[in-house]
Amino acid sequence: MQKKRVALIAHDSKKAEIVEWCLNNKNILEKFELCGTGTTAKRISEATGLKVKGYLSGPLGGDQQIGALVAEGKIDFVLFLCDPLTAQPHDPDVKALLRIANVYNVAIATNVATADLIIKKDMI
Ligand code: PGA
Repeated sequence: MQKKRVALIAHDSKKAEIVEWCLNNKNILEKFELCGTGTTAKRISEATGLKVKGYLSGPLGGDQQIGALVAEGKIDFVLFLCDPLTAQPHDPDVKALLRIANVYNVAIATNVATADLIIKKDMI
């Protein structure tokens, strides 16, 4: 059976949070195929030992690459920890990723509370 494919993205102020979430859920995440934007993927790999395929850094096109994977049906769940308090230079890309996930009805969590619900209830 095809492994579930999960994309992991976090803005800078949320990187520690996504690393902690991955550590807490390592036993579940090990069963999935993981990818993420450049810096997020690297941080998670280094801290957890999980294999996370890294794309470009978010502001340099990584969000759009993940969006393309969503459009191609290659992602089952996106965890995108956005910083709601800081203006992002790549805000259009952030919105585009949220939009494309909605276009294709792909699960996308923008905070840990939602990600917990999805992953703990075995919903992906
Ligand atoms: P990064 O990108 O993982 O390369 O920092 C995340 C983002 O800001 O979208």
